[in-house]
Amino acid sequence: MSTLEVDGLTKVYGTGATALSSISFEVRKGELLSIVGPSGCGKTTLLKCVSGLVAPTSGAVRLLGRAVDGVPEGLAVVFQDYSRSLFPWMRVAQNVEFPLLTLPLSRQERAERVEESLAAVGLADKGGRYPWQLSGGMQQRVAIARALAYRPRVLLMDEPFASVDAQTRSGLEDLTRRVHLEFDMTILFVTHDIDESVYLADRLIVLRASPGSVLTELVIDLPGVRDQVSTKQLPSFVRQRSLVAQHIRNAASRENV
Ligand code: ADP
Ligand code: MG
Repeated sequence: MSTLEVDGLTKVYGTGATALSSISFEVRKGELLSIVGPSGCGKTTLLKCVSGLVAPTSGAVRLLGRAVDGVPEGLAVVFQDYSRSLFPWMRVAQNVEFPLLTLPLSRQERAERVEESLAAVGLADKGGRYPWQLSGGMQQRVAIARALAYRPRVLLMDEPFASVDAQTRSGLEDLTRRVHLEFDMTILFVTHDIDESVYLADRLIVLRASPGSVLTELVIDLPGVRDQVSTKQLPSFVRQRSLVAQHIRNAASRENV
């Protein structure tokens, strides 16, 4: 069953720039779909349309069979810029609890969810800290915990690890795979990083720019449980990342002639 359907999505901004041209794909229940493409190909625009923040010029988005025409329930988003996504005046636990205040939960149930999701991202002992007392990678883990606590039907992630160092990034990628498997979470993950897109995905969509459109789609052939070192050495990983890189390079060189 498809949890999220994007059908013929086109977005032309008021400036006349066509950010997306007739994009169609679906995300199935429990799947991690990566979308990879160069900067400016419309990835953020796509997620804004999916989360109802931007109205498409044409085409439709359906979440669980219902048309998205405003900010839908059941979605959570993790953004690139962790420094702006947490409330600095709230402690970590309050940040995680905040979206839960809109749900019909008791104080006790909220507290349990906060505790459980902070533990899932390895921050069980940091609930009393303020975001600015934590490293960038930890802040991004708080943002992930906040999304987990909400138990969204779909988690959207927009280049969430682009502004952390490489070491931290690997850890956050593994955390993403782990919550995807452990919580059976449906995730739409957007990135310009080819390695990251292949490493994380069950299925992958490659976008081209000018205008943003689907270049190709790939079912990723890798084990469910992955490891930064051994998975990236697998011949199938190397072959698939090269294939994606080639698609992106060919599209760029066609544009430049
Ligand atoms: P990406 O996230 O892949 O880098 P974006 O969705 O941010 O791409 O942008 C896609 C295209 O749409 C770019 O050409 C960008 O300049 C343009 N664009 C994005 N947001 C706006 C906006 N609010 N108004 C006008 N043009 C925009
Ligand atoms: Mg973007």
